[in-house]
Amino acid sequence: MPVEIDHKVCGFCLGCATICPEGLYYIENNKLEISEGCTDCGHCIECCPVTAISEI
Ligand code: SF4
Ligand code: SF4
Repeated sequence: MPVEIDHKVCGFCLGCATICPEGLYYIENNKLEISEGCTDCGHCIECCPVTAISEI
């Protein structure tokens, strides 16, 4: 199951981008986005300090 970011909550610490083993996070128009290919490992959800990432 893929994940999504609540951009209103995200503090842009980039912890999720650093921890994603698939390297799916990228920045577009000053917002963090996620490419296809999530393996549902959950690492990004666990690392986010403001609980901005959730399963879709
Ligand atoms: S759940 Fe895992 S594979 Fe999917 S975006 Fe988060 S860190 Fe990357
Ligand atoms: S870990 Fe959370 S606060 Fe940090 S960039 Fe990712 S979504 Fe935003």
